[in-house]
Amino acid sequence: MDFPASLEKEAFSKHLGKIQSASREEANDHLSIDVAKIVRNAYVEADQSLANKDVINIAVACDGTWHKRGFTSHYNVTTITDLLTGLILDYEVMCNYCPGCAKNKMDRNSAEYEHWYAQHKTSCQINHPGSSKSMESSAAVILFQRSVVKFNFRYTTLLNDGDRSVFNAIVSLNDNTGRYGENHTVSNEDCITHISKRMKNGLDSVVQKCKIQGHVIDGKGRLTKDRVRALKNYYGRAVKDNSGDLEAMYEATWATFFHYLADKPRHNHCPEGPKSWCWYNRQLAERVVSPVRDSNSQPLSKEVSEAILPVYKRLCDKNLLKRCLRRATQNVNESINQIIWK
Ligand SMILES: [Zn+2]
Ligand SMILES: [Zn+2]
Repeated sequence: MDFPASLEKEAFSKHLGKIQSASREEANDHLSIDVAKIVRNAYVEADQSLANKDVINIAVACDGTWHKRGFTSHYNVTTITDLLTGLILDYEVMCNYCPGCAKNKMDRNSAEYEHWYAQHKTSCQINHPGSSKSMESSAAVILFQRSVVKFNFRYTTLLNDGDRSVFNAIVSLNDNTGRYGENHTVSNEDCITHISKRMKNGLDSVVQKCKIQGHVIDGKGRLTKDRVRALKNYYGRAVKDNSGDLEAMYEATWATFFHYLADKPRHNHCPEGPKSWCWYNRQLAERVVSPVRDSNSQPLSKEVSEAILPVYKRLCDKNLLKRCLRRATQNVNESINQIIWK
């Protein structure tokens, strides 16, 4: 949406009206359905058991962006982003201003106004009579309500970056059982919990896949339950410890992959100092000239490293990690802002 900077409020509103009707119905529907296919394939690829399910549960972020800062804006766009692919799946435009209504000075209780409004109603721009601040929650309710009908998705995990108003609005639906009822409750997760869980699920599914394909990942260098738990914890800690610095976070999340390589392990991403979990860097800090591997820190076999590489590529992606930066909501909003309101 490329609006000229000097666009007058009335013209802007007219444009918005057009977007709300024409482009929302066409572009949104076609594009969203294509995106939904990509999202579904990604979930099925990560978990084959979803292949035969009509409706699947997915994890999303719900972000609102306002035309102007500080909740004085009349316009809000709220988006649903799938967290596995990072793709924007759906959006809703909210508006609490209408030039037609603003111009009309008739007594709101008069018959004259009632008659005027009956004719104006279909072209009225207002779809959210409430405050600017509450637009995001109202949009979220609309977006969650159509997720099954439109995409066959339930948004059962909602990423939370501190503000719980969207989550509360969703949970309060259906007698406080959430949008999808008590069998599919919506949970609220912070970023670190969410992506650490995805690391564990990703590694677990590698173990399953290898088993099905008859690869031997038992024995030396195998991906045991303890090893999966350790990799998940190291990954979560790497994200948490570097929540102010994307580059550092990126490097730290890759550390365990290179650390556990059987062939030419690398420790330049591993934490340094005598308290490091990395035996190599710990011994260097203790001035050991040729560090020797700990008996409890066996490398992963080449086959396992190759099998888990796609999981690392997916979960160490900077676009994903960005969500876990401090002030993540602002960062996401700023980039969405640039696309929508510029
Ligand atoms: Zn109006
Ligand atoms: Zn290391």
